[in-house]
Amino acid sequence: MSEELVNVSDLNQHAYCPRRYWYLHFYDTQGRNYERIEGKTKHENQSERGNWLNELYLESERLGLKGKIDVLDLENGRTVPVERKRAESGDYYKSDEVQLAGYCMLLEDHLDEPVRQGAIYLYETDQRMHVPITEDHRETVREQIDAMQSMTVDSIPPFTDNPKKCEACSAREYCLPEETARLEPKKVRGTGWEGRI
Ligand code: SF4
Repeated sequence: MSEELVNVSDLNQHAYCPRRYWYLHFYDTQGRNYERIEGKTKHENQSERGNWLNELYLESERLGLKGKIDVLDLENGRTVPVERKRAESGDYYKSDEVQLAGYCMLLEDHLDEPVRQGAIYLYETDQRMHVPITEDHRETVREQIDAMQSMTVDSIPPFTDNPKKCEACSAREYCLPEETARLEPKKVRGTGWEGRI
């Protein structure tokens, strides 16, 4: 996929587990197409209400990124992208920060001015958490983009070394970490699955 722009929401998938992203990208083609069509429709329907701009779609060839910002808060002379999340655990994940950093980078490329902060809104708790975007976040985004653009169908990434992530992973039915650990233990050597079965 070397020339393709990376979808910012996929940064989240890849940061969670590169193998998960590999399955979603190369196997879940119906879901991908749906997402693209829906993204286009939402882009066409973007609207502005008061100091909020909803659903802003941006692309940057320079960054290798594209994506739709849920909400843009234009209040107090600052432009803050807001990403809405369901968070049954009551908190957001590190991978959500990576996604938010991707939106901030897209936005600053579009505005040609620094965007140093984003926000995550948690539905369950009705909380808005402000997240300063650091150079580490930006470097992580750049590394993820490189890794995602270099990924090929022949190079499936290894299992995550954090089996807890597998418990809530929708790719698990294809990935089969537990079954692989049981039937082909050599394939999970060096991962957290080794020794769990
Ligand atoms: S089941 Fe685990 S190893 Fe497999 S894709 Fe999901 S998180 Fe990654």
